[in-house]
Amino acid sequence: MSSPRIAVGVDIGGTKVLGALVDETGAVLREHRVLSPGPWPDMRDAIVGVINELRTGVPELHAVGVGAAGMVDLDGVIHYAPNVPGFRRVPVRASLAEATGLPTTVDNDANTAAYAEIRVGAARGVRDAIVITLGTGIGGGVILGGRVLRGANGFAAEVGHFQIDPVGPMCACGELGHWEAMASGNALGRMAREAAAAGEAPSLLERAHGKVDVIDGHHVSAAAHAGAADALALVDHYAFNVAIGLVGLANIFDPSLIAIAGGLVNDGDLFLEPMRRHFLGHIEGAQYRPTPEIIPAEMGERAGVIGAALLALDRANDAAAPL
Ligand SMILES: [Zn+2]
Repeated sequence: MSSPRIAVGVDIGGTKVLGALVDETGAVLREHRVLSPGPWPDMRDAIVGVINELRTGVPELHAVGVGAAGMVDLDGVIHYAPNVPGFRRVPVRASLAEATGLPTTVDNDANTAAYAEIRVGAARGVRDAIVITLGTGIGGGVILGGRVLRGANGFAAEVGHFQIDPVGPMCACGELGHWEAMASGNALGRMAREAAAAGEAPSLLERAHGKVDVIDGHHVSAAAHAGAADALALVDHYAFNVAIGLVGLANIFDPSLIAIAGGLVNDGDLFLEPMRRHFLGHIEGAQYRPTPEIIPAEMGERAGVIGAALLALDRANDAAAPL
């Protein structure tokens, strides 16, 4: 039996560059991380340094995959990355391919995380799935027929910026009522602070020692687990906001499974159960169709880096795939 093919996956973040040596089964063989050095070309040198460190002593490295938050086109040019200063129209793929001599793929980190889930995580074996990460914002990957949906330019599946309420709260992108502004992990914290300030969340205020400003999603989880009615009402309202976005996506893409990633998955069914209930209450023709399961994602914080490596290995094998 031949030994498994190996790639380096790289996750470019605002504070760190995380690299991992990953084999084709998704196993992480080694990791290396450095602090983000700031703008390109210092960033390029840091990424190449991470790759070189990881490939030392590896007889054959097959590919490099990179995931980054932001708008990544089909040629692996990062047009804009909100958390990495100076990333504007940077030809990341071409530059890294030249520096390493390896087939290189660059994609949005939500897409790479989604790919990890369908290859080796919660959605393994599923051909049509949606993976949603509820964090600071909302990241989404749409997998159709086993492939990441990338669109004409690579900018598809920016699901966080899907308008749910035209008179809703302001999104980080400047538009009103985007799903991210209403259903991200940060949105839960904002909803909790607003409820506390309005006198509607006494149990949260008590847990935060009377300081509205410090209330976040953790206070909501803790109070809800303890059975506080005000916190349970917030959980239900927030779960509804998540569910209506999932309903829109499911009506459009007809996935067989939706995997949810993010810190609130650690709360088990606290959030997932009301999400499922509201989802089934609103999806088109619930009683006439197989409805997608909504389950927790499995890959955790390494999803992006593992998915980037697997995507690179699979694309290096598939001449028809975009880079
Ligand atoms: Zn937006």
